[in-house]
Amino acid sequence: MNELYEKINKSIEDHVDDYMAMVKQMYDHPELGFQEFETQKLLTAYLEKAGFDVKKGVACETDYVAEYKSSKPGPVIAFMCEYDALPEVGHGCGHNLIAGIGIAAGEALKSIADDIGGTIRVMGTPAEENFGGKVHMANAGLFDDVDAALMVHPGTKNGLGGKSNAINPVKFEFFGKNAHGCHPQEGKSALDAAVMTYIQINLMRQFLEPNTFIHGIIRDGGGAANVIPAYASMEYYFRAPTMKYALEMTEKAKKCAEGACLATGTTFKTSIYECPYEDTLVNYTLADMLKEKYEMLGLEDIQPVNEVGGGSTDVGSVSYKCPTIQGGIKIAGDEVAGHSKEMACATVSPEGKAGLVNAAKGIAYIACDLITQPEKLKAVQDEFKKATQSH
Ligand SMILES: [Zn+2]
Ligand SMILES: [Zn+2]
Repeated sequence: MNELYEKINKSIEDHVDDYMAMVKQMYDHPELGFQEFETQKLLTAYLEKAGFDVKKGVACETDYVAEYKSSKPGPVIAFMCEYDALPEVGHGCGHNLIAGIGIAAGEALKSIADDIGGTIRVMGTPAEENFGGKVHMANAGLFDDVDAALMVHPGTKNGLGGKSNAINPVKFEFFGKNAHGCHPQEGKSALDAAVMTYIQINLMRQFLEPNTFIHGIIRDGGGAANVIPAYASMEYYFRAPTMKYALEMTEKAKKCAEGACLATGTTFKTSIYECPYEDTLVNYTLADMLKEKYEMLGLEDIQPVNEVGGGSTDVGSVSYKCPTIQGGIKIAGDEVAGHSKEMACATVSPEGKAGLVNAAKGIAYIACDLITQPEKLKAVQDEFKKATQSH
């Protein structure tokens, strides 16, 4: 093992109790997306003390950018920290551990940065679960000068990350006319338009591309059974392997609503009610590097790149700005579900701690290689350029 890796190990092992104390603090006091004020304070206080130049609330109120510019030129490497929790299950997605991993990797790199050069950025990316902190940060240009963005998500498998679906969240609102339930001829039912749209979207499914998902609910369907509803609304997610196709599905669904409105004499409008997420662009060169590092660390059963993205993540937006990887680290057995209290518990277990150490080492080694081996960085960036040009 080379000397630089040994320094990385030492930094992470020397501070691991501090990292786990922060992970536990977040576990005990989970904060939902865009409400992570205490968490932001906790993490940025640590990073300031560790010698980073910290800015808070750069693109959204609860984000942060902690930078260490070394004395020598070199690439900009970002470590992304998520830290938003979920209602009821707290840190059931393990984002508290992601924050620990990012800070551990950043501090380790900082310990060698003046020898090897480059700029280290620990980026606090809030509200992954709902409002897409990374989308706002990416749109604000915070990843434009980043040469590679690295992170690891905890779960039930060690893995090299993978694709994720683009998601377009669309609200449909229908407008009709109230009338007494016994004089329906004087009214126009917005609910009927919503129900017909719902059914027509379901009928449309078999004509869609594979690996696409549409799920929706009726949010408003009227106030009383004896009143013809003048207003109804539905909320939908359109998910597809690319944003282009998610938008295409959205347009098809609007046609369903048009037909329903024609039939019921109502009107409708649509709006985007949550943050749309891009699909994730995989960087296979980074994935190969993570595999090599995980093997070096003795991790087993490493899952290859997941080619069929199931869910969606705001990491997608970053992946179109710079080469990006979101690896996976096992902290619990297969019986533990994602978004569960059991998964939250795993973040503060011995397995969580081991996961933090291995994941932080893995991405810190990658960062070290990207700074010290220009040909590696070039390979990562050439792949990124090729993939984004053909997109
Ligand atoms: Zn989640
Ligand atoms: Zn998550």
